[in-house]
Amino acid sequence: MYTKFQSFLKEELGQIKNAGLYKNERVITSPQGAAISVSTGQEVLNFCANNYLGLSNNPQLVQAAKDALDKRGFGMSSVRFICGTQDIHKELEQKIAAYFGTEDTILYAAAFDANGGVFEPLLSAEDAIISDSLNHASIIDGVRLCKAARYRYENANMEDLENKLIEAQKNRFRLIVTDGVFSMDGNVAPMDKIVELANKYDAMVMIDECHSAGVVGATGRGVTELFNIRGQVEIITGTLGKAFGGAVGGFTTGKKEVIDMLRQRSRPYLFSNSLPPMVVSAGIKMFEMMDETNELQDKLHSNTDYFMGKMLAAGFDIKPTKSAICAVMLYDAKLSQDFAAKLLDEGIYVIGFYFPVVAKGQARIRVQLSAAHKVEHLDKAIKAFIKVGKELGVIK
Ligand SMILES: *Cc1c(COP(=O)(O)O)cnc(C)c1O
Repeated sequence: MYTKFQSFLKEELGQIKNAGLYKNERVITSPQGAAISVSTGQEVLNFCANNYLGLSNNPQLVQAAKDALDKRGFGMSSVRFICGTQDIHKELEQKIAAYFGTEDTILYAAAFDANGGVFEPLLSAEDAIISDSLNHASIIDGVRLCKAARYRYENANMEDLENKLIEAQKNRFRLIVTDGVFSMDGNVAPMDKIVELANKYDAMVMIDECHSAGVVGATGRGVTELFNIRGQVEIITGTLGKAFGGAVGGFTTGKKEVIDMLRQRSRPYLFSNSLPPMVVSAGIKMFEMMDETNELQDKLHSNTDYFMGKMLAAGFDIKPTKSAICAVMLYDAKLSQDFAAKLLDEGIYVIGFYFPVVAKGQARIRVQLSAAHKVEHLDKAIKAFIKVGKELGVIK
């Protein structure tokens, strides 16, 4: 059998390569950070990690993880409800709830699991899920696992959402689900309007805060802080794998009964291993740091404003952002790849995205800012962008 299957796979892989969509991994030989070494020996400035707060190699988090290894061991060898819950798992869940102003939290191995396991236990065939068209793949997969009726509205389009809410009046329960920040444009979901429509049409709201938690809002509490709607949404999902240290781990936080039901029925929670103690302890430490100071958010916000300001002044076409994602629009797919390759020669590591990751004719370079970036780093990146931009005729 395998001989036939092998030639089938080779053929498919060949097509992926021919379409220019084959993914190669760039190998990093240093810890994650603003400046990284890659396996070619090159030192580059990193502008494509989700390391928004620069915590991926934070000494306090590394120490907290080491202490936990000594005190609580390496792994749990169990799921949560059999013998995989330590006091620190409960403590981290409470810390997350306090951070978001919610009632309770349930941890997962990843946000992919949190989204994969949130819909099916809560909603059934009589109900409706109304989902933004640009929601993350894990939300799309989670919705597929659930029997509820599916409605899809155009990205952040409130007129379309309203139409779908009207259609969904025939259903028993309605849940609107949206990313807080959309990863390709860096735009935030208009949460004030979404909550208003939810109230008008008797629906609940779920936000995936993966790209917004720690980043958006004056103190980084996410889009519920930005729109002053803390406590007004039923469900929030998020990750420990981006701003919050970048290791691994996900969570769902929200109404008490919702979390309680997820503990009873959510399959990635019931049938997958507990988070290791070192990840949990470092997570607790991270939320303690967030309570003590707002320094990292302030740095991130000023870095973003600085970078955006200089890039706009240089004549680049940049999507308006409220996050730490800055989409430098180039529109042409090949241009985005050439631009990124030339930037790498200048020591700036960014990725060019094009169809099908973004819409046709919407190719861009996505720059992700970090609190770890120093002004010198930003200046070097801006200088490189201007140099390459002139070479390739993108700016004058
Ligand atoms: C990154 C991301 C996820 C997945 O998070 P993991 O913890 O890495 O599984 C889910 N949703 C959104 C919006 C994301 O950006």
